[in-house]
Amino acid sequence: MGILERAMWKLSNTPDPFIDKSPKLLATPSQVPVPTFILPSAHSSASSSASSLSSASSFWMSPAPSRWSLRCLPSSIRNNVSKRQVAVVFCLLLALIIWVIPQPGTWRHRVVHITMQQSVSNPYQVLRPVTQEPVTKKHAPDPLRWLQHNSGNRFAEKSTLGLLKSLPSLGHHSAKPRAALISLVRNSELPGLVQSMRQLEYRWNQNYNYPWIFFNDEPFSDEFKAATSNLTSAKCYYEIVPKDHWSLPDWIDEGRFMNSLEYLGAIGVGKGWMISYRHMCRWNSGFFYKHPRLKDFDWYWRVEPDVHFFCDIDYDVFRFMRDNNMKYGFNMNILDDARSFPSLWSRTRSFINAHPELIHLDADLDWLLDSHNSGDYNNCQFFSNFEIGDLNFFRGEANERYFDWLDRGGGFYYERFGDAPIHTLSVAMFVPKSEIWFFRDIGYQHDINRHCPPQSSHRCSCDPTSVDENFYRLVPLESPQKKPDDTCIRQFLGGKWLDKKEGWSQEGERAFGGDGYHGYIMGGLDELS
Ligand code: GDP
Ligand code: MN
Repeated sequence: MGILERAMWKLSNTPDPFIDKSPKLLATPSQVPVPTFILPSAHSSASSSASSLSSASSFWMSPAPSRWSLRCLPSSIRNNVSKRQVAVVFCLLLALIIWVIPQPGTWRHRVVHITMQQSVSNPYQVLRPVTQEPVTKKHAPDPLRWLQHNSGNRFAEKSTLGLLKSLPSLGHHSAKPRAALISLVRNSELPGLVQSMRQLEYRWNQNYNYPWIFFNDEPFSDEFKAATSNLTSAKCYYEIVPKDHWSLPDWIDEGRFMNSLEYLGAIGVGKGWMISYRHMCRWNSGFFYKHPRLKDFDWYWRVEPDVHFFCDIDYDVFRFMRDNNMKYGFNMNILDDARSFPSLWSRTRSFINAHPELIHLDADLDWLLDSHNSGDYNNCQFFSNFEIGDLNFFRGEANERYFDWLDRGGGFYYERFGDAPIHTLSVAMFVPKSEIWFFRDIGYQHDINRHCPPQSSHRCSCDPTSVDENFYRLVPLESPQKKPDDTCIRQFLGGKWLDKKEGWSQEGERAFGGDGYHGYIMGGLDELS
């Protein structure tokens, strides 16, 4: 018996001691034969259910039955409204409630799975790292379940229903996250940004309407403002980076800085010769979240010019982050060029020694340390041109002190510290691994690095890539930089992702011309997940 039927059954079987006092009902029994209203039950025979069905349908045609009263309603309504009308309104209300409140179980699942048929076992390509029992135990959110309940553009703002659902009083959903799409960009990069925005709007934000905030070290041109605001119906903000967030700090020796520009430029470290690139890396490491415009925001999604978004995203990514207590989301985890940050690990180690109390009890740094290289940093990084994060984490004491520690050491100017390895180390030290999310489902490309989820041709316009794709694309195999034994993403995921085929050896594979990363039992297209 469904909820609706149960409610009707209950109503029809509730004895009414006030039956004779209702003026409308008084006339009913003598004037019109009242059909007996019995809903078919699980035990009733075929014939009895047929007869009760017919009486159920005649219920709607007949005057209101007299076995229950409208006494609970004010007399003005009671005198003008029939019980049948009340029953119809009641049913409509019930149906609305059933639709609005998420049911803990079945029917929403069914709806989601119908649209995700291609990969039944794990339609969301959820790949979570293996984590130890948390030391600080608390109620653990279930992101997969969240996705099952909230995909299908459940909170899309386009539909009135979506708006209704996002009201806190309906369905116990909290308000829309205070989140923004942020982009540091030059006026000259307008065409590239138009391309990135167009794709992200089309694939996602047209449904969610999160504001765009553009940052620049100089004023944005009118052309830039007109072109970008034209691409979205969301609000756009155009902000200038404060001068002291984009200039050489007074503790930096300019001569030493110039030498570094020359040296890193000469040895071919990417953009190693560009002054602006150093400011950019420092701003993205320790200043973006301090900008006054972000004061009223809690979440950001970083977007660069000239990137691609290949897949439809059918859920509110920021709600996902908030509701599942995530602090940081990435979609590529790859090697970085270690020549850009020779002192980063020793500076980080000294920070850990100086502030052991700031390291999170559930933090996992192991996946970033290379046991075959004196336990040094293995140079894996979350590729931060794509990142979705919690601004309050970055504003928090641990990250701020870590950034200041690095900044004081001058590594942004004497070396070319990048924001990607710094965010990676910070997140790894100060956030439990369970609060770092791998957005395997978001197809993305930045320059030569491309990430495309498997089994998703129905919603993506890219060829699936293996989890190991891009691993050493920024640091070619022939470079003398020591490579870790396992790919970065597998070290992050851990567990069965590191299992190798029997009889396989890295040296053996390399002797036959392989790169040494093809021994995994799990091939990398998530087929066993
Ligand atoms: P890469 O991805 O490491 O090669 O670095 P990019 O050149 O793409 O720069 C990273 C981000 O910072 C991009 O969004 C750029 O548009 C932005 N950016 C880099 N340098 C500057 C700059 O001097 N001024 C401004 N306004 N944005 C910059
Ligand atoms: Mn870039």
